Amino acid sequence: MNALPPRARVAAAGETPTGSDGGGDARRVRTTCPYCGVGCGVVASVGAAASGERPVPETIAIAGDPQHPANLGRLCSKGSALADVLGQEGRLLHPQVDGRRTDWDGALDRVASGFREAIAAHGPDSVAFYLSGQLLTEDYYLANKLMKGFIGSANVDTNSRLCMASTVAGQKRAFGSDTVPGSYEDLELADLVVVTGANLAWCHPVLFQRIQAARRRRPGMRLVVIDPRRTATADEADLHLAIASDGDTALFNGLLHHLIATGAVDRTYVERHTTGFADAEAAVAGADLAATAAATGLASARLQDFFRAFAGTERVVTLFSQGVNQSEAGTDKVNAILNAHLATGRIGRPGMGPFSLTGQPNAMGGREVGGLANQLAAHMEIEDPRHRALVGQFWDAPAMARKPGLRAVELFQAVAAGRIKALWIMATNPVASLPDNAAVEAALAACPFVVVSDVTAATDTARHADVLLPAAAWGEKDGTVTNSERRISRQRAFLPLPGEARPDWWIIAQVARRMGWARAFDHDGPAAIYREHAALSAWRNGGSRDFDIGVHAGLSDAAYDGLQPVQWPLPAEGGGGGTGRLFGNGAFHTPDGRARFLALAPPDPAPATPARPVLLNTGRIRDQWHTMTRTALSARLSAHYAEPFAELHPETARQHGIGPADLVAIESAHGRILVRALVTARQQPGMAFVPMHWNDQTSAAGRVGRLLAPRIDPVSGQPALKRMPVALHRFPAAWYAFAVSVDRPDPGGLPDLPYWALARCRRGWRLELAGDRPAGDPASVAATLLGTAGDGEQVYADAAGGSFRLARFAGDRLVASLHLARRPVAVSRAWLAGMLDREMPASQDRMALLAGRPGSDRPDPGATVCACFDVGANTILQAVGRGCTTVDAIGASLGAGSNCGSCRAEIGELIRHAGS
Ligand code: SF4
Repeated sequence: MNALPPRARVAAAGETPTGSDGGGDARRVRTTCPYCGVGCGVVASVGAAASGERPVPETIAIAGDPQHPANLGRLCSKGSALADVLGQEGRLLHPQVDGRRTDWDGALDRVASGFREAIAAHGPDSVAFYLSGQLLTEDYYLANKLMKGFIGSANVDTNSRLCMASTVAGQKRAFGSDTVPGSYEDLELADLVVVTGANLAWCHPVLFQRIQAARRRRPGMRLVVIDPRRTATADEADLHLAIASDGDTALFNGLLHHLIATGAVDRTYVERHTTGFADAEAAVAGADLAATAAATGLASARLQDFFRAFAGTERVVTLFSQGVNQSEAGTDKVNAILNAHLATGRIGRPGMGPFSLTGQPNAMGGREVGGLANQLAAHMEIEDPRHRALVGQFWDAPAMARKPGLRAVELFQAVAAGRIKALWIMATNPVASLPDNAAVEAALAACPFVVVSDVTAATDTARHADVLLPAAAWGEKDGTVTNSERRISRQRAFLPLPGEARPDWWIIAQVARRMGWARAFDHDGPAAIYREHAALSAWRNGGSRDFDIGVHAGLSDAAYDGLQPVQWPLPAEGGGGGTGRLFGNGAFHTPDGRARFLALAPPDPAPATPARPVLLNTGRIRDQWHTMTRTALSARLSAHYAEPFAELHPETARQHGIGPADLVAIESAHGRILVRALVTARQQPGMAFVPMHWNDQTSAAGRVGRLLAPRIDPVSGQPALKRMPVALHRFPAAWYAFAVSVDRPDPGGLPDLPYWALARCRRGWRLELAGDRPAGDPASVAATLLGTAGDGEQVYADAAGGSFRLARFAGDRLVASLHLARRPVAVSRAWLAGMLDREMPASQDRMALLAGRPGSDRPDPGATVCACFDVGANTILQAVGRGCTTVDAIGASLGAGSNCGSCRAEIGELIRHAGS
C-alpha cells in the first residue's frame, strides 16, 4: 500500500484562516501550550520565510493568548520559551528500521507485520501500546480504537498513569465518574485555597499567578499549602503545613473528624446526596487532634488553624496533584480530600470544590478516549458488558477487548517476563520516567519487537527501538487537547512538517490499514477523527455518562479549524456553550445518583531504615519539562538549574559529611545516582528531593528513576514516586571541572567518567564534570572534551595544587574554557557562559577568563533567577542595594518577575535574605 503523506494545513503569510489572525508578512496562529495541564492559549507569530523554507525559530514570536480563558494572555517561563525548542536540533526526521534509514512504506509494513506475527503466534494480549499525555486527543482515540476494538486487547496504557490515575480512580469511587467538578474561575472566587501535593508556583505557574492576583484584589483570601518541602508555593502561603511524607490521608481524616466534632458537616446535603457517611465517620473516630498531629508530624496548633479555616469558610477549593497521586495510597488520599468536600456540601458551586491538576497537556483528553488500560472510550467501562457492546457496535469492531489490560508498571514487567512480544511506544520516554528504570531498560533490550514514534532521535528509550518513526512536533500538528478544567482547545499547526515527520494519527491509521482494517481507519484528518470521537460520546448516552460532546459530532472541517476553547460536557441538546461546573445539583453518576464516602485508614508506607535512613522525594523544577527532550534545547530554561541535584537539609547533610556543592551518591535497593548536593533548609531533615528530569543524554548518572521501586497503588496502578528509602554518601571526587564551549563537548570521550552534566547556554554548551581517579594530563582532558578548534590559548597550570585553567580563542572569539581543580570549581558560571563567542581582543584583560570571574569593572550577573529576562541573582541583589525592596520594584527596575511571574518567590527570598 502506498503511503501518501499528508501535509498539515499551514496558513500562508497574509492568509487569515480561522483560528489565525493574518496580516502583513507574519501569520498569527492561535494554539495551545504543549507542556502542563493548565492548557494556556498561545499566539504564535510566524515571520516570513523563503518560498518552500521552514521559518527559523528566530522569526517566530510566542505570546500568551489574551482570549484564552485558561491564561488570559499569561505564559510561564516554559511557555514563553516555546520558540527556543522549534529548531531541528536532535529531530528524528526519517523512518528507521534496525538502525538504518528507510521509507515510510518499509517502516509501516514492518510495524504491521511485527504486530500481526506476534498476535498470530501468541494472541492479542502479547502486544501493547504505551502512549503519552503529549499525544493529541485524535491520536489517542485512534490508538485506543485499534488496540481495544480491532486487535482485541486492552494493553494500551499511557504515561498519564504516572500522573493522575489515582485521581481518576478516586473520582470514580466517589462520583461514579471521572469528573473534575469545577473551573479555574473557582480558584479566584474561593476565600480559602488549599494546595496539597502540588508546587503550583513552579509546576502550574499561570494558575498560581491567577490565584496570587486574586489575593492581591481580595486580601482576605487565604492560601494554605500542604507540602513536606518549603516550596516556592509554600513561601507565598498564609499557612504552610510541612507534612510528613504520605501523611495526607491522616490529615484529611483528621479534618473530617474536626468537621464532625464541631458541627460543620452539612447534614442535609449528606443525607440527600451521599451514601457511606456513617462508615467514614466511624473510620475517623480516633483521628482527633493529637492522633492527627502524631500521624502527620504537624504541630497541633497549626493543624487547628487549618481545620478551623476549612470549617469556617464556605468557599473552599482544594487543589491537588502528583504529591497526592504518586503514592501507594494515592487513591485513598484523593478520597480523603473528596470526603471533606462532600461532608460540607462544598462541590460544584462557585468558589468551592476539590480540584485535581493534571501534569500533562492532554492527560484529560487521554482519559476521555480511554487511553488507560482499564477504560473504554468516552468514559465507558471495559468491565461493563453493556458498554463493551455499545462501543463494539459503534466501531463495528471485530474483536472488542473483554478485560482490562496491563497498567504502565505491570506492562513493562510483562515485557521483562517475555509476555509482551511487540510493543509500540508513542511520544514518551519510559526508560527515563518509569520507576526501576534500569529494569525497564533491560526489558526493552530483551523485547523481540519495539517500535518508538517520537520527535527526538536520541532518547534513553529510542536507542532500544527496532523501528523508529518520526512524529510531528508541537507547531506542526493539528488536533485538540483538554486541560485540567475540562476545557477542549485546539492545537494548530503553524510550521510545515520537517523531513519525513508525520502526525501520530496518520502513522496509527496507516498501520491499522496495513493490518487489514482500512475502512475503520479511513480518516482523512484530525477533524474526521474528532467528529467520530464526539459522536461516540453521545452514542446512546442520554445523560447516563458525564462525558458527552455530541454537539461537535457534526462539526465541519472549517468549524473544527476555528473551534474555540470550550468546557465539556457539550451534549447535542445543550447548545454548545460548555459547562463550567458539575454536581452543583447534588446529582452524581453512581447507580443511585448519590456520591460515595469512603472509609479510609492512613497507609503504613515503607519506613526509612538504618541502612537507608533518608526518604527520597521526586518532582519537577520550574524551567524543565518531563525528561528534558525539548526544554533542554533552550538555553534560558537550562540556566535555572544546569545539573541534577539533591536538596538536603543542613542537618541531613552534616550527618552524612556532605558539604555545599559536594557530589552525593544516592543508593537504593534498585540503583544508584550521582548528583550535586544542594544544602537548604527548604527540605525537612531526613528527606532528600531530586528532580525527575535528567536523563542519560544530559547527565552521566542523574536519572532518579533508577532508585525508585516499582510499587503501585493497588486501586489505581499509579506508581509511588514520592517516597523511597535511600542511603546517601559523599562522593570522594579526586577532581572537579567546569567547561564552556561553542561546540558540543564530548564527556563520553573520557572513559568511566562518573559525573558529568551537560546543558545549553546561549552560544554553546556548559559542562560540569568530576572524577574519582586522577584526571591525568589536563591538556589532554581539554583536548578530549573540547576538541582542538581555535588558534590561540591562554593557560594557567599549577601541577602541585592540581589546578588547571584554559581559555581558547578563534581569532578574538572565546570558543572554549576549562577550569579544573581538586575542589568544587568556584567560578561565575553565568558570566563565563555569557563570554562564549564574544569578541575579546588580546589587548583586553583575558586573565579574567582564567580567574573565572569578571574584573571589578564588570558586573557578574550570578545564577539566573528570571529566565524570561535573563536576570541573575547578583543583579537582583545589587538592585535591592539601590533601594528596590519589593518584588514589584525589582520588576519595574529589571523586568525580572514581571512577565510570567514564576520567579517572584525566588526574588522575594533574595530580598528577604538581603535584609536579614
Ligand atoms: Fe504552558 Fe506554563 Fe501555561 Fe503550563 S502554565 S500550559 S507550561 S504556559
